[in-house]
Amino acid sequence: MLITPHFLTGLAIAKGIPEAAPAAIAAVSSHFVLDAVPHRDTIGGHHLNTANILLVAGDGLLALGLWWWLIPESIRWYALTLGLAANAPDFIEIPGLFWPKWNAIPLMKQFHVWHTDVLQYAREPRGWFIGLLPQGLLVGGLIYLLAH
Ligand SMILES: [Zn+2]
Repeated sequence: MLITPHFLTGLAIAKGIPEAAPAAIAAVSSHFVLDAVPHRDTIGGHHLNTANILLVAGDGLLALGLWWWLIPESIRWYALTLGLAANAPDFIEIPGLFWPKWNAIPLMKQFHVWHTDVLQYAREPRGWFIGLLPQGLLVGGLIYLLAH
């Protein structure tokens, strides 16, 4: 999934769970639950291209803007940490974009296959409408939840 739905899920966990350890476990676990929902999150496949870089930049800025707008100052940095934790499984994959051997390292190889081919078997190719619908509904619901 895109950064924003994962990130807002981490923010909602921060709002509901004040204990750091269970909240961090919930945030990282939430990533895999959301990735299993059919979705679309790249333009032209899973590699570096201008469109994907712009998508990630815009998506990341949207996530940070919503964080700043929706999270009270008292838990702002705790929520940011959990938002990042909810995206951590994707951060682990970043070196593989620049250095393909990253995905051949023991444990990383198994993680990569599970995180992409197994868990997200239904992510591409699909149209943007169907690909964004579950993510849009999730983001809308989470904005509502976080704003109240
Ligand atoms: Zn992922």
